Amino acid sequence: MSNVALEVKDLVKSFSLDGATIHAVDNVSFQVKSGEFVALVGPSGSGKTTMLSILAALLAPTSGQVLIDGQDLAQMDEKRRVKLRREKIGFTFQSNNLIPFLTAQENVEFMLRLNGQANKAGRMRSAEILARLGLNDRLHNLPAQLSGGQQQRVAIARALIHNPAVVLADEPTASLDTERAFQVVETFARLVHENNRAGIMVTHDLRMCQYVDRVLQMQDGKLVRVYETKDEIMGLAMETVKH
Ligand code: ADP
Ligand code: MG
Repeated sequence: MSNVALEVKDLVKSFSLDGATIHAVDNVSFQVKSGEFVALVGPSGSGKTTMLSILAALLAPTSGQVLIDGQDLAQMDEKRRVKLRREKIGFTFQSNNLIPFLTAQENVEFMLRLNGQANKAGRMRSAEILARLGLNDRLHNLPAQLSGGQQQRVAIARALIHNPAVVLADEPTASLDTERAFQVVETFARLVHENNRAGIMVTHDLRMCQYVDRVLQMQDGKLVRVYETKDEIMGLAMETVKH
């Protein structure tokens, strides 16, 4: 039985800017099951980051619902929301927000520390996940000693280490070279599938869609198209290569 890990119902987020109203997210509904890796694509300004911030419980929607593991974010008090975010959600945003005075491995373990799981098993798991992302010789380096791409991979490891029900990544390959980007997204996909997590990745690089199970396309805040079959998804992933 595959259960719904994340459900979005009639979600709306509007901003007022200089007297005008911007519908950053305009009545969007979808579900993501455990074990499913989904890409969220669309042009700049289409509402992808706003959507991800709402799913991460970092931003409150104007209306509509978000359910994580069946729990409605809006029905919780802030204390429970913080606990849910810490335990059930892993996220990495465009700015990776690594803690500058902690090493790569310590940054990853920080998520375990927050959940009271910093022990020997956690230490081995953090080393393993960093190695799978190609950072086995960088465990003890500080963020400033790492390239942008390496920092981004540390942030991805941190989003996955506590095995959250829902993993959210905003442009995780933005500062990686092509070969590394493919490797990281492939590893990301494998970790989501192996551990039966629900993954959502925002990307502007359609080639990365070859590793996902479904593609949600946004435009002007709306969900305009869903690519579901392997053929549709591969067609989209190859489109960019042709041009
Ligand atoms: P994307 O990530 O797809 O590029 P965003 O979610 O960042 O898009 O933005 C969607 C729209 O909402 C854009 O028009 C953007 O300018 C607007 N927007 C995002 N955040 C804010 C905010 N805090 N205040 C006003 N407008 C915002
Ligand atoms: Mg964005």
